[in-house]
Amino acid sequence: MVMIQLQRSYQQGTIAHAYLFEGEVGTGKKETAIWLAQLLFCQNIQNDAPCNTCHNCLRIKANEHPDVQQIKPDGQTIKVQQIRDLKTEFSKSGVETKKKVFIIESAEKMSAGAANSLLKFLEEPDGQMMAILLTEGKARILPTIQSRCQILHFSNLSRDQFIKELENKGVSQKKAEYLSHLTGDLEKAVEISQDEWFNEAREATDKWFTQLLNKDFQAFVYVQKKVCKVFKEKEQQLLALDLLMLSYQRHFEMLIGGLAVKKDNSYLIQKSVAEIEIIFNGKRKLEANVSFQNVCEQMVWLLLKDR
Ligand SMILES: [Zn+2]
Repeated sequence: MVMIQLQRSYQQGTIAHAYLFEGEVGTGKKETAIWLAQLLFCQNIQNDAPCNTCHNCLRIKANEHPDVQQIKPDGQTIKVQQIRDLKTEFSKSGVETKKKVFIIESAEKMSAGAANSLLKFLEEPDGQMMAILLTEGKARILPTIQSRCQILHFSNLSRDQFIKELENKGVSQKKAEYLSHLTGDLEKAVEISQDEWFNEAREATDKWFTQLLNKDFQAFVYVQKKVCKVFKEKEQQLLALDLLMLSYQRHFEMLIGGLAVKKDNSYLIQKSVAEIEIIFNGKRKLEANVSFQNVCEQMVWLLLKDR
């Protein structure tokens, strides 16, 4: 983990003055950048980690610390003026300490002018200044900039870690699990979790699943009455089947968990696997452009068949 690596550098006093964090969306680059900035300014460091609660930590988190500047693309690019403003900001008197950190998000979107301006900045490092560049496209960053940075690679969180992170952000476990199937991007997941459509979609698939599990014929009617109305776009429809499959998988896991108690579950397990397969095949058909309603009705028919 990158954080542990950074912590070690901190302990050994070998923190670099420029970092390039590269990795896919949702791999925690921004969070780590904020954490590193906090580590440098925290007033109450414990076990070589920022406390996350002191005045400095809180201001950094809220992007209100004058010595920690965050830059994002303004529209499609990061413009040269943004880098110039950054320099001006840092040369102002009145900033609180000599330490300065700047974080540049989507650094690959720097215009040529911005990149050159930044390069000058990096070429004349001020001992107290640290640059943290974040990127999802390292190949699009000037090699001269890359060569001045310590490059740290971020890999995707495992699903479990992702769910934990979401829970830390106040998303319920059940929701977090759903979301982990939708996106690998933490910020986006939090955003979706607050989206009304997502909640409706989740409720609809939950209800549908309960009907199917109970071999309730209403599950057939529900396709037209609700499912087709909630899941309109192709993407959403694929998601509907993913969510349904997830419910079946969880049910399956519960069955396996109960095996130790009841030995005679092999028939149920076989059946459960067959059910998951039905949904999987439904998904294939949907991908092959069979209409959503047809796919769902066929699936329901197969799932209800041997009640
Ligand atoms: Zn602190």
